[in-house]
Amino acid sequence: MSDAAGTGGPVYETEQPVRYERRDDLAIVSLDRPRFGNAQNAQLLYALDEAFARAAADEAVKAIVLRGEGRHFSSGHDIGTPGCDFGASWPDRRSLWYDHVGTAGAETNYVREQESYLGLCRRWRALPKPMIAAVQGACIAGGLMLAWVADMIVAADDAFFSDPVLAMGVPGVEYFAHVYEMHPRIAREFLYLGERMPAERAYQLGMVNRVVPRDALDDEAIAMATKAAKAPRFALALAKQAFNQLEDLAGKRAGMDAVFSLHHLAHAHNQLTGDWLGGVRADAIKQR
Ligand code: ZN
Repeated sequence: MSDAAGTGGPVYETEQPVRYERRDDLAIVSLDRPRFGNAQNAQLLYALDEAFARAAADEAVKAIVLRGEGRHFSSGHDIGTPGCDFGASWPDRRSLWYDHVGTAGAETNYVREQESYLGLCRRWRALPKPMIAAVQGACIAGGLMLAWVADMIVAADDAFFSDPVLAMGVPGVEYFAHVYEMHPRIAREFLYLGERMPAERAYQLGMVNRVVPRDALDDEAIAMATKAAKAPRFALALAKQAFNQLEDLAGKRAGMDAVFSLHHLAHAHNQLTGDWLGGVRADAIKQR
């Protein structure tokens, strides 16, 4: 889908923003918008969902590696490339939320983000096969959401993590896992200051499992996934469910629902006060 008709809609630089490969027991899923730091537009998110659905359904696939092409894992949600498609309609939605296009007021963002941000992340977290995220360079805001839904994270030594969205007037990304990924004291620092957290510190805090040299990143992620894949499939699926269920019993799901409401109070407030410029204040983020 491109803007060939000149309708003023998104102009996609590629028809395939996600690459899917089968390698032995593994599915290797690559974000493939390197020109834009693998920014996540809806085109990419739905291609990613398709790749995960394919990996889930393929009996030969025992584990998944999620990686990004180019210098960066993901610069976050697409808030300003020619392929930014906030306003596009997605008929092939994965939840039962209706189309956000044609809605107004606070409804538009709420419906769109229930489906394509919170909804898709939860769906991917529930994928009954282990997923290893291989993170290099920037892992910013929406990038965190992709890394955090993985079971394990291996980071290159040049990786950094940040959630700078307070500058956009919202209290963190839509998938508010911050307090489950790091100590709440550190999570406050992470969010309030919006600073880059280097891979090494993320490792010390337990947010990532391993840090390796940049050129060893893919091999390490593949080695971890290959090892996990040796366990019996059903036992692995149950182990994954065990962690997810216990996290949710400890409040992860309900907590995120509560914060999602605050997130949308902020979006609505920004709309009311006129501080909402087409959904973004990228300039404010760059100034941090
Ligand atoms: Zn939002």
